[in-house]
Amino acid sequence: MSTGLNLSIDRLMSELAALARISAAEPPVVTRVVFSEADLRARAYVKSRCTEAGLTVHEDAIGNTFARWTGSDADLAPIGTGSHIDAIPNAGSYDGVVGVLGGLEAIRVLQQFGFTPRRSIELVIFTAEEPTRFGIGCLGSRMMGSVLTPAEALKLRDKQGRGLDELRGEAGFAGPLESVAVPPGRFHQFIELHIEQGPQLESEGIDIGLVTAIAAPASLRINIEGEGGHAGGKLMPGRKDALCAAAELILALEAAAKSTGAIDTVGTVGVCEVFPGAVNSIPSRVRLETDMRDINAARRDGVLDALRTAIADVSKRRGVIVTTELVNADPPAACDPAILAALEASAIAAGKSYKKMVSRAYHDSLFMARIAPVAMLFIPCRGGVSHRPDEYATPEWIGSGVHVLSRTLAVLAS
Ligand SMILES: [Zn+2]
Repeated sequence: MSTGLNLSIDRLMSELAALARISAAEPPVVTRVVFSEADLRARAYVKSRCTEAGLTVHEDAIGNTFARWTGSDADLAPIGTGSHIDAIPNAGSYDGVVGVLGGLEAIRVLQQFGFTPRRSIELVIFTAEEPTRFGIGCLGSRMMGSVLTPAEALKLRDKQGRGLDELRGEAGFAGPLESVAVPPGRFHQFIELHIEQGPQLESEGIDIGLVTAIAAPASLRINIEGEGGHAGGKLMPGRKDALCAAAELILALEAAAKSTGAIDTVGTVGVCEVFPGAVNSIPSRVRLETDMRDINAARRDGVLDALRTAIADVSKRRGVIVTTELVNADPPAACDPAILAALEASAIAAGKSYKKMVSRAYHDSLFMARIAPVAMLFIPCRGGVSHRPDEYATPEWIGSGVHVLSRTLAVLAS
């Protein structure tokens, strides 16, 4: 596209503000848990904007929403773009939403330009990217990518013990869960626009991050059973202090993550619960939750193996009983070189600065990668802050992302 695109950043910014006001909390706090009243109102708002733009909207059995701008060759698999509109408690206005309303704006820009896509362009709003309600992230895209089976999905419960089936029905979504899985080929390509949720782009003054790979987490829950007792009465020899064992495992994970020598390997123990948690009582039981991430699955699984070796060693040496539960170990995804090349060319044509980078947070694209070639583009967010009410991206940053996205959609859909 040689001439300038008519990007209406004011319209998009006012829609972002309107969507942010649809929240279970007082503005500027955004809380939109999946299938809550706020989530349903937000869905209705976005769907009405899509209908206004002439898109054909349909929803699957768990509320993944597809808004299609039909191309001149309607039989061809569409180019997908989109993200999520659910938000964790006490969140901000841009995570996910920029990829949804920004994706819609990218479509409207092309419509106003008079562009006719050959392939359809389909905006996707994924159900429950955030793990708030069901304890598992990317529910919608995970089921689309057949990473979570219908049988596994039926076992999901929220904190009140209510199941996915009951809650989706109440929200108005019906039909067999089997129908949520999407066959490869249903989407020709998929692009997700998202705020970086890290500080790199802003601090380096760069407009666009071209995501080459999406790191994926593995999470292991660890329960350590030792032996309690009086902190004064029980002498040091023969103690089975569960927290001392936990301390060794925490440091073992840190050492294993550092030992790969790769900057992309990270390991964290974010939860450490100590029982009984009294100053004069030897810890008898500790629960740890660990998170290991990398863009290379073998390297990340190597860290997981090292942690398991440390568990075996510590439990034998200290006489504690350790049980583990692998919560998830999702495969990382590489972004598609052809889409990245189109994004890069679009960034150059739009006069935007860019750099290639890795996504260290996971996104719906991680699971879309199971069924389609994917790529992501990041825009800066102030201070790298996300998942907080003060999350912020300037209209210029958002405009740059939408501009590059719209050019890329035009190229890929031609
Ligand atoms: Zn997000």
